Amino acid sequence: MLLSGQVALVTGAGRGIGRAIALALAEAGARVAINYNTSAQAALELAAEIAAAGGEARAWQADVSETDQAAALVDNVLQHFGRLDILVNNAGITRDNLLLRMGEEDWDRVLAVNLKGYFNCCKAAIRPMTRARRGRIINIASVVGLRGNAGQVNYAAAKAGVIGLTKSLAREVGSRNITVNAIAPGFIETDMTRALTRDIREQMLKNIPLGRLGEPADVAGLAVFLAGPGAAYITGQVIAVDGGMAM
Ligand code: NAD
Repeated sequence: MLLSGQVALVTGAGRGIGRAIALALAEAGARVAINYNTSAQAALELAAEIAAAGGEARAWQADVSETDQAAALVDNVLQHFGRLDILVNNAGITRDNLLLRMGEEDWDRVLAVNLKGYFNCCKAAIRPMTRARRGRIINIASVVGLRGNAGQVNYAAAKAGVIGLTKSLAREVGSRNITVNAIAPGFIETDMTRALTRDIREQMLKNIPLGRLGEPADVAGLAVFLAGPGAAYITGQVIAVDGGMAM
């Protein structure tokens, strides 16, 4: 199998895109560390599902926006599995509002989870990856980080920040055989988008050439590719999985 013997950590993997990525990495042969913040039950069920299919997975709670918790998460993974080959930064939240009405807490929290959380996990993972002289970091950004979106100045700033982080870190660690890439999903069917009104969904659909919303598995396919041998010479890239929405 493509990723057999390797260990992957996926943050915010209890549901949605993270869950689909964890499942797909396990299917490709990786042993998977599932991070969750509040959805313990879903994370444990996912670990059980992977085990039932013949894979290996274990779930750990951590709020990735907290530096100490992110560091402890990576330590736990290293202690349990003995290595870390693939980090998928996926944990994210939205707190949407027009700038005029956006509270400081909503700005701070979205930046803390969606940008600082990625920094925290990258920082904790880089040392063991550097020692091993190999590693794959996959950051889940968003087309909103490329194009902006009214009502999401906090989220768009965080996701644009993730793109800057990805390119800069790719330059820093390329010589250590560590690649860093970002996936920019468009409009994917998860709890995050199910909260949108029917009007907004219909409006979005009009802008998607492929004429449908994406599924979490559409994003997971690219994550597995970026983690695998076929992507060894790809780094610092932002690849959209958006049905053609942002082109
Ligand atoms: P989701 O809300 O279903 O899942 C997000 C996960 O992150 C949840 O399991 C949540 O518990 C976890 N999480 C939140 N805060 C956390 C924290 N502090 N520490 C650890 N885990 C935390 O959303 P999703 O749609 O699956 O989103 C996954 C990623 O994809 C996010 O980064 C999101 O911004 C991005 N994204 C989603 C879409 C979309 O259309 N759904 C589009 C572009 C980008």
